[in-house]
Amino acid sequence: MDYLAGLNTEQRAAVQQIHGPVMIIAGAGSGKTRVITYRVAHLIASGVDPFNILVLTFTNKAAREMRERIMHLVGPEAKNIWMGTFHSVFAKLLRVEADKIGYPNNFTIYDTDDSKSVLRAILKEMNLDDKLYSVNFVLNRVSAAKNNLVSWQEYQNNEQIQADDFSSGRGMLGKIYETYVNRCFRAGAMDFDDLLFKTNELLKLFPETLNKYQHKFKYLMVDEYQDTNFSQYLIVKKLAAVNENICVVGDDAQSIYAFRGANIQNILNFEKDYPDLKIFKLEQNYRSTQNIVNVANSIIANNKEQLKKNVFSEKETGDRIKVMRAFSDNEEGKIVAEGIMQERSTKGLKWHDFAILYRTNAQSRSMEEALRKLGIPYKIYGGLSFYQRKEIKDLIAYFRLTFNPNDEEALKRVINYPKRGIGDTTVDRIIVAADKHQLSPFEIILEAPRYLEKAPAQLMAFATMIQSFQVLTKTQSAYEAALYIAQHSGLLKDLYEDKSVEGLNRYENIQELLNGIKEFSEREDLEEKGLDVFMQDIALLTNDDNDKNKDADTVSLMTIHSSKGLEFPQVYVVGLEENLFPSQMSLNSRSDLEEERRLFYVAITRAETKLSISYATSRFKFGTLISCEPSRFLDEIDAQYLELDFTAKPAANSKSDYDDERTAWGRSDAFSKPKPKTTTSAPVKTTSILAKAHVPSANFKPSDTSNLQVGMEVEHERFGFGKVISLEGNKPDIKATIFFKEIGQKQLLLKFAKLAIV
Ligand code: ATP
Ligand code: MG
Repeated sequence: MDYLAGLNTEQRAAVQQIHGPVMIIAGAGSGKTRVITYRVAHLIASGVDPFNILVLTFTNKAAREMRERIMHLVGPEAKNIWMGTFHSVFAKLLRVEADKIGYPNNFTIYDTDDSKSVLRAILKEMNLDDKLYSVNFVLNRVSAAKNNLVSWQEYQNNEQIQADDFSSGRGMLGKIYETYVNRCFRAGAMDFDDLLFKTNELLKLFPETLNKYQHKFKYLMVDEYQDTNFSQYLIVKKLAAVNENICVVGDDAQSIYAFRGANIQNILNFEKDYPDLKIFKLEQNYRSTQNIVNVANSIIANNKEQLKKNVFSEKETGDRIKVMRAFSDNEEGKIVAEGIMQERSTKGLKWHDFAILYRTNAQSRSMEEALRKLGIPYKIYGGLSFYQRKEIKDLIAYFRLTFNPNDEEALKRVINYPKRGIGDTTVDRIIVAADKHQLSPFEIILEAPRYLEKAPAQLMAFATMIQSFQVLTKTQSAYEAALYIAQHSGLLKDLYEDKSVEGLNRYENIQELLNGIKEFSEREDLEEKGLDVFMQDIALLTNDDNDKNKDADTVSLMTIHSSKGLEFPQVYVVGLEENLFPSQMSLNSRSDLEEERRLFYVAITRAETKLSISYATSRFKFGTLISCEPSRFLDEIDAQYLELDFTAKPAANSKSDYDDERTAWGRSDAFSKPKPKTTTSAPVKTTSILAKAHVPSANFKPSDTSNLQVGMEVEHERFGFGKVISLEGNKPDIKATIFFKEIGQKQLLLKFAKLAIV
């Protein structure tokens, strides 16, 4: 078969091994995802019904791309494969089965904001100290419990958990968990973790349902297996138990979600779970140049915990990795933007050949500003989704209420928006009555005179309005219903009347949503296209899924976490500073620090031909300028693969030590500052930048370089011996490009460079 020619021997063997359990644990860029893609194509070509295949990917975007490739290989049949993230696939399954576990099939999916709002209300009612019980902390605990399949009952009955909670003064966590679960249940809502927790519950309590899906999904495949949590692991294990046709691929060195409960044990367990397991090794990296692969290997070697593997590249050696220093975050943005501009024009690349990766979302600001200044088109991935904007959430809350009037968070959001004279006190009373009578707030409103002392007429009007929407959606198309709701809720008018720039923007966003719904209701490939269907997975969509201009030529900006699995010809990894990357929170334990290092490994291995790394010596953080030290990760890279570029000048108005050539041009002092005493990995023998420091000759004395000529041999205080390659600019700002024997090519401003002509 033709397509098998696109695989190496080992990849082909893994693709052809369609029966029984298969595991591939291999380094970045070695073709793991490619193996899954080809394997699915091969299954279909071998006669397997696409309806019997389940593929779990890391993002919906990855699933979409994989589906397109499979269609390319085997044709339109590929449409019928179940393919997507764990959350989207099992939300789809629960839409069919949720009634079995007491949920409406049109259950709402609560997003993180909804979950936090529920918890905030509970914490307030229970009068708990918001320092001990911060919403984020509580949500993390509940989430961790669910991802480890610990129900609230088990939580409360587990002596160890209880002892730990009480000793930290947080003895009420079990009660909060219970109340939270009951609130969500009453609202007919599942949060993100519930989508997996409830799937487990369903498969456990209903053997016949489990059996049905075991026979449906005869072939299972999981990409990025290293980042599955216990809940996901168990679903996969159960579904695969009958046919055992399961193939997982991953890379322990890229496990970056331990903080969310991902468990490396899932890889180790896999061998125990399936004694007949066939393991395939992939060692050749097809993505990156040798220099990039070598740098990645030298970084990850610093981690103690890792499965040993060989990774090599047969591509060209490639450019050295460029390390760029900036004096501030804004200047870092500028250097990166200018770098992209230059690389694009000299190498004839497209904007979409470039990606900028950062540790935290906040770093995108300075990058965006710089790109905008130069008119470089860009797109931020994984940021705030279109569906998370306030006005969009408001309208969607009306849709949610229409289909699930018990949805308490949607109700709270719009009961008095646009303003209709229902005050907070009335809402509080409704919630108290709902708790007391074990009803949903909407049920209380419907019979307000019976349950509330004071029942304003506006309440009945609100309930009647929602009911009129319910009637409407039964007969109208998704678009007609949505437009009607936007108009009759008063939302469209409210936004229309706001003539500020933001108001106009919000109004346009609502129009965009309505246009999207219109397109949806006109789709010919769908049998069901009501507003309820459109609504189903909206909470799971990210802005990458709403990508209208997906073929647009733009530079990609994203966090390293969201770059997993992707590749770009040129990658800029920014913000390589202590306390930022590695993050401050990771400095207290070896395992957290190792996770940060794996994150750095992920970042580096996204690059195909050129990798640039940058750091700033000062940065705005929470409104104040702080000074920063270069990341320890820079020291861990073998210096032979690096090209230092310290040519950036500080902005005229910024405070700097530019006059002191030692820090302005030489090796940054910060490289040699003692590291804070934290748990770090065992030192690994690398030739660090420090170790390579040049010791000036005994008679070294900076000379007058105003008559420097191309071809002259020079000695630099720290860069060592080199030869002048070119000179440009006018006095007194002449720049010299010098090739140094030890560290490679550099550009220096002569008036500051301490050079001796030899
Ligand atoms: P990651 O760990 O980053 O997810 P991966 O192991 O999934 O990486 P892929 O994305 O599947 O790697 O492959 C990396 C790149 O190498 C892709 O562009 C892929 O098409 C290419 N590639 C993989 N195997 C081959 C091959 N045998 N021949 C040509 N190109 C290949
Ligand atoms: Mg991959």
